[in-house]
Amino acid sequence: MTCPFCGQSEDRRGLHRHLVAVHVQAVEVGLDEQKQRMYYRLDCPNCEYVVSQTVRPRSTDEHFLEEYRAEIGLVAFDLLLYHLELAHEAPAPEAVAGIED
Ligand SMILES: [Zn+2]
Ligand SMILES: [Zn+2]
Repeated sequence: MTCPFCGQSEDRRGLHRHLVAVHVQAVEVGLDEQKQRMYYRLDCPNCEYVVSQTVRPRSTDEHFLEEYRAEIGLVAFDLLLYHLELAHEAPAPEAVAGIED
């Protein structure tokens, strides 16, 4: 698979690690207006698709949210990878060659 942010080529597991390590700042983390729930948001760099969810934080302290970003990144990037596989990854050439109709 290809990293949508920098074009680096990795297998799925490697790309997940790479995204969390290098592109974690792409995940936006914040509190909703009532400061009751935390949300994260991750935009697909290739289209309008957005991974977004609210989560119940253990704390609403801003410093805590920043530390929590890496943990949330694991989840958000996993969801983005599913989207990339479905929407942006060309099927492997051998898979295409195997289809005869
Ligand atoms: Zn990258
Ligand atoms: Zn997309």
